[in-house]
Amino acid sequence: MTSVHELIRAAAEREAAARAPRGRPAGRSHRRPIALRATGASSCDSGLVNDPWAIDRAPGYGPGASVADAIPGDAPRQGPLPARYTDASEEQLHDWIVAAKAELGQRVQILGHFYQRDEIVQHADFVGDSFMLAQAAKQHPEAEAFVFCGVHFMAETADILSGPEQAVILPNLAAGCSMADMATIDQVEACWRELTTSLGPTEDGLQPVIPVTYMNSSAAIKAFCGRNGGIVCTSSNARTVLEWAFERGQRVVFFPDQHLGRNTAKAMGIAEDRMPLWRPHLPLGGNTEEQLRDARVILWNGFCSVHKRFTVAQIEQARADYPGVKVIVHPECPAAVVEAADGAGSTEYIRKEIEAAEPGAVIAVGTEINLVNRLQQQRPDLTIFCLDPVVCPCSTMYRIHPAYLAWTLESLVAGETPNRIAVSEEVAGDSRIALERMLAARP
Ligand code: SF4
Repeated sequence: MTSVHELIRAAAEREAAARAPRGRPAGRSHRRPIALRATGASSCDSGLVNDPWAIDRAPGYGPGASVADAIPGDAPRQGPLPARYTDASEEQLHDWIVAAKAELGQRVQILGHFYQRDEIVQHADFVGDSFMLAQAAKQHPEAEAFVFCGVHFMAETADILSGPEQAVILPNLAAGCSMADMATIDQVEACWRELTTSLGPTEDGLQPVIPVTYMNSSAAIKAFCGRNGGIVCTSSNARTVLEWAFERGQRVVFFPDQHLGRNTAKAMGIAEDRMPLWRPHLPLGGNTEEQLRDARVILWNGFCSVHKRFTVAQIEQARADYPGVKVIVHPECPAAVVEAADGAGSTEYIRKEIEAAEPGAVIAVGTEINLVNRLQQQRPDLTIFCLDPVVCPCSTMYRIHPAYLAWTLESLVAGETPNRIAVSEEVAGDSRIALERMLAARP
């Protein structure tokens, strides 16, 4: 059987080939590729910039979170940082990070998510989306530890795909993801029991329902999908994954982001009235058995607090202010926003659109502000702006303050391994099944 690692390598090679402009070899572009490194621009909003350790002690996701975000009672909590770090200046923290990183050398790799603040990204050995970072972890078997500057579910995925002796560390345990937390394993298993009871066996050889989970979900839910004939998707391959699922099942239940599920299914021609929403606190998710039997995609009632803030009114305003503006948005945005935009796609799609833009173009982007700022800094010949002028950064990603990174690295220098994210082998094994199916799925 092909291993997950061989599948990852094959997927990376396919991706590199797909990225190459037609008629040119992979890796040689006619434009300087956008590397998405740190720019020096500040990303702080006034509610987040001061005393980040105070919001870590309060229950909730902090400034910028949606009022609908409810933090689970069992979410990991970060203990207090020593005063050496909380009292330090930005310059001291920077110097301590640089010194500790130099001492640790290749033993420790720092991974930084695209949405991470610049003060952290400038120290990262690799910058990418959650799956790219997990792949990067796999590609460094010599590293003893990965300091994952993202959120909890991403560190879990890196732990699943990295070697058993390698430690994955989340510098601040309070860096969760409000979307991933909207689907707990207990809720998903209860949903599954109701669905399989209501839908019963089929006569056409297909499963009544296939579970599909977005990468932005806990390891427990990825493992659930692995155990139950399901699969994982990213925002880049959601359509391919849904096609895979429809070859095997009559319908799909999609966790946890309703918007990615709805936007992908709509692009495949599925009518919205065949996409009921599953509200986990209601019997049958708030639906009738008839609605569930008629469904093609059952959408979990989850969303990203960052991307759901974008609106059609913002797009209309951008078009009024900048006639000819091109509007591109992430598929975690609501369907009406995706329809009103000129294009929608993953972070990689957004990066490539901007890389390919002609000098002088004006582009409005509906995604996280740190990424938009970085894109603008790296293509100063374009006018690039965020659709929402007051958009907050991802407030949980933002919790990786330089003080946490300095504390983590200095702990590693001292021979300690703080905040290790370790997925049990049982959960990791089932998760790998769902990830392998994703990597093997073909358009
Ligand atoms: S941007 Fe949204 S989906 Fe991504 S980590 Fe933040 S809350 Fe989660």
